[in-house]
Amino acid sequence: MSGGKSVIDRAAERARRALAAGEEILLILRCAGCGAERERRVRPGLRVVEERAEGAFRTLLLEREGRPAVRLKIFSGRQPVESLLLEHEPERAPAGVSVLYLHARELLEDPRRWRPHRVEGMRPLFCASCREAFRAFRRQAEEVSRRTGVPLPGFPYRYGIARCWKCGEEILAFAWTDEGWPKAEPPSPRPRTVQWRFSRTIGSSYWANTCPFCGAIQGDWFLHHEPDGPFFAAFQREPWEKDDPWRWLEDMVRIARWRIEGGAGRRFPPEADVSP
Ligand SMILES: [Zn+2]
Ligand SMILES: [Zn+2]
Repeated sequence: MSGGKSVIDRAAERARRALAAGEEILLILRCAGCGAERERRVRPGLRVVEERAEGAFRTLLLEREGRPAVRLKIFSGRQPVESLLLEHEPERAPAGVSVLYLHARELLEDPRRWRPHRVEGMRPLFCASCREAFRAFRRQAEEVSRRTGVPLPGFPYRYGIARCWKCGEEILAFAWTDEGWPKAEPPSPRPRTVQWRFSRTIGSSYWANTCPFCGAIQGDWFLHHEPDGPFFAAFQREPWEKDDPWRWLEDMVRIARWRIEGGAGRRFPPEADVSP
């Protein structure tokens, strides 16, 4: 631990100097859907107004035009640092203030490139491929919605496209919790195909997805855990994160990419509907 503190000291010092000199700062963020990195320029005018030593972190409070704008939480330590970040409660920062968790060594290497290991208070960013996949998926889902007469729901319901194992029709499937075979009453308004049903497969009742054409239960194991299932790649929420519309959007983008480019999409490409 003795060496750790001075690394943080030096990193904080370098960050302060870069900001004071008005250097251009690049923020390197990972796409919330696929993890691809993209850079964007930090709007200039940030000023350090306070520095705090808080447990394992050195926190720099930055303002822009006299208003709190960003908090940098600098940490150090060898890999894996994930447990440090996982166990840390979300920062109580004012609304609109982004919190960036930066590694001291990376900051020392280049104080003008911020590559946060964790981010709070910022809308999720998506790369062009993820945005395109989501648009394509949305069109397909709207089409299935029209054919089934089942509307597309909003938060917290994630939706995916599945093929009924019994009648072979394409249908919408819904997920609202990362727990399988849920017993608790789903949030309202509940899609009409989500029904309290007895499953012979698991020997008890739960809130199940059902087919709007033939009524068959669409098993949670298939929907969530099979590579061909629509929710296979969704629900990557970290333990510290509560569900909110941003997590919903991240999950929806992953569901979309999985459908368009991943297992489910490969197995049932749109062309398959018209080929003999
Ligand atoms: Zn992406
Ligand atoms: Zn069916």
